[in-house]
This record gives sequence, C-alpha cells and structure tokens, in this order.
Amino acid sequence: IPVDPFDLVIFGGTGDLARRKILPGLFRRFCAGQMPKDARVIGAARGDMSSAEYREFVAEAVAEFGGEGACEDGTLDGFLERMEFVTIDARGDTGWTDLVTLMRDDVVRAFYFSVGPSLFGDLAERLTKHGLTDADSRIVVEKPFGRDLDTAQALNRDLAKHFDERQIYRIDHYLGKETVQNLMAVRFGNMLFEPLWNSQYVDHIQITVAETVGVGGRGEYYDKSGAMRDMVQNHLMQLLCLIAMEPPSKFDPDAVRDEKLKVIRALDAVVPHHIVRGQYEAEGGDPSYREAVGDARSRTESYIAMKVGISNWRWAGTPFYLRTGKRLKARSSEIVVVFKELNHSIFGEAGEHRNELSIRLQPNEGITLGVTIKEPGPGGMRLMNVPLDMSFAEALGPDGADQTDAYERLIMDVIRGNQTLFMRGDEVEAAWAWTDPIIHGWEARGDVPKTYDAGSEGPVDAVQLLARDTRVWRKVT
Ligand code: NAD
Repeated sequence: IPVDPFDLVIFGGTGDLARRKILPGLFRRFCAGQMPKDARVIGAARGDMSSAEYREFVAEAVAEFGGEGACEDGTLDGFLERMEFVTIDARGDTGWTDLVTLMRDDVVRAFYFSVGPSLFGDLAERLTKHGLTDADSRIVVEKPFGRDLDTAQALNRDLAKHFDERQIYRIDHYLGKETVQNLMAVRFGNMLFEPLWNSQYVDHIQITVAETVGVGGRGEYYDKSGAMRDMVQNHLMQLLCLIAMEPPSKFDPDAVRDEKLKVIRALDAVVPHHIVRGQYEAEGGDPSYREAVGDARSRTESYIAMKVGISNWRWAGTPFYLRTGKRLKARSSEIVVVFKELNHSIFGEAGEHRNELSIRLQPNEGITLGVTIKEPGPGGMRLMNVPLDMSFAEALGPDGADQTDAYERLIMDVIRGNQTLFMRGDEVEAAWAWTDPIIHGWEARGDVPKTYDAGSEGPVDAVQLLARDTRVWRKVT
C-alpha cells in the first residue's frame, strides 16, 4: 500500500549512511510500489553538486547496495526522476532559499538529519526560521543521541524549541528489524508465552549482539564512545525493553513507549563485578583495537558483558545477561529466554532438559523453541531436546524472510506518522541516566579492559561472569 505523497529531505544526503542504507532502501520501497510516484527525495549536503550529478550518485549507491533483482528494468529511471539536490550549509545561509523553492505544500514534509548530532540544533533552527516546517512536518534524527545524559537533554531541548515530541523520530534501526517486531507479535499475540514470561518460570535471559568487524575506519569516533555508548545504551537496551516490558494496553506508540520506559526505570544499578569490558587483540594482519584507534593506552571497550537486574514484580530474581562486541567469532544477534528446570522430572535425570526460546535477529532471522521429546526408536524412554523451529525463510517462503531493511521500513513509518518503533526523548534520557554512573565509575577507577583474541567469543572473564551463577553463554554461531 503506497504511503501518502511526500517530500523527504536528507540532510547529509551524500554521506555514508545515505549511500549504504537510506537511498537503496528508498529504491526498494519504490520498486515495491510503496513509495508513491509523486514522492520526492531531496539530497541536501555540503559540496557543489547538481541534481543530475546527485542522480548519478544515487544510481551508484543503488547499484552497490540496492540488492539484486529488486526492480524491473527501467524502474531505476523512474526513481531517479524523484531525486533533487541542494547544496546547503547547516550552519550558514547557503542553500536554504533553494530548499524553500523546491518544497511542495500539499505533501508530507519529512527531514532526515543524517548528519552528526552537533548539527541537529542548527538544522532545527534553520528549518523553522525559513518557514520550511508546519505542525505536520517530521524530523528523523540519527544516533548517537548524545554521549551522556547532559548532552542528550541538551539535544532534546534544542529540538523541543522547534518541534513537538510527536514530530521527532529518533531512529534506532534495531527496532526496524522484522524479528524485533515479531518478538512483540509472539509475546502479545499468543496465549502460550505470556503466562510463563516472568521470574517464576524464566531462569535467565541472554541478549547477544556479536560483530565480526573491528572498528575499521571509524576508530577515532569509536574510541570516544565504546561498546557501552555505541551499542548497550541504545540497541541492547531497546531489545531488553521489548523482552521485559509489561503488555501495553494497545499497540500504540505512547502505550508501547510508556511500558519500555518503566523497564529502564526499574533497572538496578550495576555493580562493577557484574561487568566485563574487553579490547580485541591483533590477529594475522589485522590490527588490535588499540592499533586500530591509534592509541596504545586506550581504555575504551570494544566488548562488554554484563549482568543486569530488573527490580519489579515480574522480573526480580531473573538476571538478564547482555553482551556485545567487535571482532568476535561470528556475526550474530540473538535473544534467548532460558526457562527454569522442571520442578520434578518423572523421567529422572533423562528429563532434565530446559526449554529455551531463541529469537534470532541475524543471521537467519527466526524464532526457535527448544522442546523435549522422546528419542525415536525402541531404546526405551530416552529424551532429547529438539528445536521447534520457525525460520521465516522456510515457514513463509522466500518473501517471508522479509528483505525489507530496517531503515526503509522505518522511513515509511515516518511518512505514515507512526512513532511506535522510534525512541521517545524520555526513554533516551532514562537510558543515559542508567549508563552514566557505570561509565563514570570506570573513569574514576581508571578501569582497564581485559584483552580477548580476535575471532573468539570474548574475554574469559565473561565466561566466568555466568559460571559464577552456574550458567553458560549460548555459543556465538
Ligand atoms: P558522513 O560523514 O559520511 O556524511 C556526513 C554528511 O553530512 C555529508 O553528506 C556531508 O556533506 C554532510 N554535512 C556535514 N557537515 C554539513 C554541514 N555543515 N551542512 C550540511 N551538510 C553537512 O556521515 P554518515 O556516516 O553518513 O553519518 C551520518 C549520521 O548518521 C551520523 O550522525 C552518524 O553517527 C549516523 N549513523 C551512521 C551510520 C553509518 O553506517 N554510516 C550508522 C548509524 C548512524
């Protein structure tokens, strides 16, 4: 179903994110017939470029990142016709009147801030100063949304001077992933799981986001951030919220976000010995973390594992173990709900299998429930644990393994005016309020991360973090 006609301005329209994600994603939506034919995309960035040159830039981005066979022949031209470009300076006067001339009145106006957060306030100010927005206009802001509570509050204040909260779409692309939404469907669309979804039946929950890549060319930026700021405060926190939240009364943006916020506010302060920080070592020709960021004394973590408690009626006593890192063994994102052992097994030790519900975000998006059955054959009552598997690709056919990238899905939500999968300002602030004391503690103590082998599952101490609780991490595969 096509969305309403729109003018989407991408500030930072020549940047890496626009090239790899936003523009190819829009192209796929165009091919799918979701982007209306009279929609327009206006790249706005520094540097001289004509609209014709921008179309070439977009064509190259689509060729490289658009996905194979996404579109019928000839459709690319139709897409490129929707593209315009204006040279603009977020901090000056250049280009703003050109943008005013280009924008149409009778369509949804959306402004994607695909630039560093230091420009968010400038852009917001100039958009209103030049009369480019009305009460129905939307802005989309990228991560990082601040680097601590103070900076996040300042950003929220800067944006609030010009926009209502219902106009601000803070992107966390993890929320645009198919499986993440499926997590809500599974939890709240079935009778089966929710009665067991609490500390009485759930032993613990693991959330893993493992990457194989190192910091690459982003070393300088990453070293000022680290895994806690770059991944935990936003992506892992969002996953934790969706797993742990109470059922909202309806699937409505504020009802969902109210419940997520309550989870963040119920998080326990984390004590230092429940956290393991790591930095990867050199391997083969690949540099170590410290080499990659060009600081032999860097104390920034490229890996973090932590044990987190939630002090509320539902979860008190059930630990959540989070871990994320770079240069790990496999690229894998997974949430695993590990249920408790049976109170009593009528099969003796043979029956001591646990149920585990695994929600895989990547690769092979899907949901698997480990159930205990009888081993086939005449060997007596021997039991085994097998996966009851719902791989989206298998269950729903090739189209079921939805190829829609998170970004394109979220952009369409912006045009539809649906904020459910975007972070509200108070959520972001609450998340920083929780991570700030942890980070300040490291700084005050001069905490030095442990090292770990590139290509491994992380520091040995992370294994011990669970071993102390007689638990083990799921293998990173
Ligand atoms: P980039 O450096 O590749 O591109 C920056 C863009 O901003 C360019 O188009 C540049 O012309 C424009 N720009 C810079 N200063 C400007 C000014 N004063 N006025 C107008 N335009 C200006 O950056 P990127 O990697 O595309 O990242 C953009 C934003 O998205 C950042 O906030 C980044 O943290 C975030 N982000 C990027 C990625 C990614 O994969 N690249 C992922 C998540 C979030």
